[in-house]
Amino acid sequence: MVNSEEICSYDSSRAQNSGLEGSRIINLGKFQEYIGDLQRHLSECKGSMILCGETRNGFASILESKCSSCQKNIAFDT
Ligand SMILES: [Zn+2]
Repeated sequence: MVNSEEICSYDSSRAQNSGLEGSRIINLGKFQEYIGDLQRHLSECKGSMILCGETRNGFASILESKCSSCQKNIAFDT
C-alpha cells in the first residue's frame, strides 16, 4: 500500500542523501505508456499534471502525478 501523505511530502534533499539519485532503472516502453496515459487524460480533462512525488521501493521507484483539475492520480511504477 502507498501512503498518499508520504508521497506528497516527498523531500528531494532526502533522496540526495540516499546516494541513489539518478541511478533508477526505467523501462522505456512502460514510461511511454505512462506518458500516453497522462496525455490522454489531459486531452479529456483539460487540466494539467503536477508531479506529486516519488515513492521508493528498493531499486525501483514509483512516480506519482496528480491532475490539477480532477485530482486524479496517475502513477508510474518503474
Ligand atoms: Zn483530470
